Amino acid sequence: MKGPETLMEFMEMYKTEEDCHRALFEHRWPAGFRCPRCGHDRSYAHKKRPLFQCVACRHQASVTVGTIFEGTRTDLKKWFLAIYLLAQTKKPIFSAELSRQLGVAPFTAWSMRRKITRAMQRKGS
Ligand SMILES: [Zn+2]
Repeated sequence: MKGPETLMEFMEMYKTEEDCHRALFEHRWPAGFRCPRCGHDRSYAHKKRPLFQCVACRHQASVTVGTIFEGTRTDLKKWFLAIYLLAQTKKPIFSAELSRQLGVAPFTAWSMRRKITRAMQRKGS
């Protein structure tokens, strides 16, 4: 995923939850949708959740499975912003700051920060 380089770019790219779903969709299926069950290549996007339903067999494929977003109840917009902040900010960001910036509970911020930091370390090594 090519990330935004400024906060303004970030806000343009990820205005809505759907924008985030689409970004994950493109990450999971860079060559276009492919149903994991039947191999069909067309899907409907779910409006509220990061799910894409196969037109042929109606299998619902989640774009968050196997990612740090799997099973989350926090908006993907907040996740994306957390990733942006943690990746772009020169000084370390503590979870209390993240909690304040995102408007999420301190424990949620702590858990997000831990998952994101681990994922970034994996990518770097
Ligand atoms: Zn299918």
